[in-house]
Amino acid sequence: MKIHEYQARRLLSEAGIPVPGGTMVTSLAEATAAAKILLDDGATLLVVKAQVHAGGRGKAGFVTLCRTLDEVNEAAMFMFNNPMISVQTGPEGLVVTKVLIADGVDIASEYYLAITTDRTSGTNALIASSEGGVEIETVAHENPDAILTQRIDPLAGLQDFQARQMAFDLGFTGKQVRQASTIMMKLAKLVNDTDASLAEINPLIITPESESHPDGHVMAIDAKFDFDDNALFRHPNLKEMFDPTEENVSELKAAEFGLNFIALDGNIGCLVNGAGLAMATMDIIKLHGGSPANFLDVGGAATLEAVTEAFRIILSDDKVEGVLVNIFGGIMKCDVIAEAIVSAAKEVGFTVPLVVRLEGTNVEAAREILKAAESDIPTMQTASNLADAAARVVAAVC
Ligand code: GDP
Ligand code: MN
Repeated sequence: MKIHEYQARRLLSEAGIPVPGGTMVTSLAEATAAAKILLDDGATLLVVKAQVHAGGRGKAGFVTLCRTLDEVNEAAMFMFNNPMISVQTGPEGLVVTKVLIADGVDIASEYYLAITTDRTSGTNALIASSEGGVEIETVAHENPDAILTQRIDPLAGLQDFQARQMAFDLGFTGKQVRQASTIMMKLAKLVNDTDASLAEINPLIITPESESHPDGHVMAIDAKFDFDDNALFRHPNLKEMFDPTEENVSELKAAEFGLNFIALDGNIGCLVNGAGLAMATMDIIKLHGGSPANFLDVGGAATLEAVTEAFRIILSDDKVEGVLVNIFGGIMKCDVIAEAIVSAAKEVGFTVPLVVRLEGTNVEAAREILKAAESDIPTMQTASNLADAAARVVAAVC
């Protein structure tokens, strides 16, 4: 589960990591009011930031530094009225319904800091770079040596000496070292406490020297978290941060019925059971020159109601020009699928070609159900095997 930056900032702040203040707003009027409070408080620099579950906002014009109320209004108006399109979104971008109005800070340098799973060592790792900011992906590609790693022992956790070493390696000096290493230790504890699979601060910054911070102040000004869905049951406070408006509607609907739906780019909807069969089905569609629009895995134990819903979800996808049902009945019985096809035909209607390939448990009963319904489902063809099914559905959508 992902969360928004404003929520991530709150978690960091509660964990004792310095973060500039800010308020999340959902309208232009609220944006103005929030900015006015900060400006009246003596702020001279504000930053207006779109809150969406994707990065790359800075380059896309959705992170704007402002000095006056008018500038804040203009920036917020732009963000509420335009989709945020960046390298991390699709071409249609993301609609912005939430905006963060935060205290802006002066930056001397930007760093990258993250903790995530290192699959090679099978542990978490602290990852950092002194070349943080909006170009970190390019750095990782072109200058991988600039990305530093400290492996985190799962039992001992991140050790103070490792954090200090990382701070020195990043080039921090004097009092900055303690500030940076403390942030790393606190971030490691937060990751552990929240079952996070990713915690990323980009950029971690240091401010120019000032009276209150003669060596500069190390702070987080952007953060991203991803949490292990399977551990959310023990974090009700995190679960509350879930924002359904950021999720694919069909994927949410599927999850409600215990189904797994994955949206893709092609035009053939796939209803399958089991992730392995889903992969094989997509491969064979591709082999025959077609392209899947999605796949919906009904699993082993779905009810008639859930499978009917599965068809409703697939058929509600505008991209779908044909549907391939590929079921190998094991625990899932073929006759349940056949009944669902009949009920989906009644309730939703198959206006697009439907190709059905069923094998396994209760396949005879399933064939009889489909045979009896043939005249009600004129776009349906039955296939004798998987290759035949793929060839038929690809031919039907071309
Ligand atoms: P992202 O592009 O979605 O990762 O958004 P960020 O919050 O990381 O902002 C992008 C860039 O905007 C940062 O790398 C900074 O260079 C700049 N930026 C963001 N907040 C501030 C701020 O308070 N002050 C200054 N001077 N720059 C900022
Ligand atoms: Mn960032």
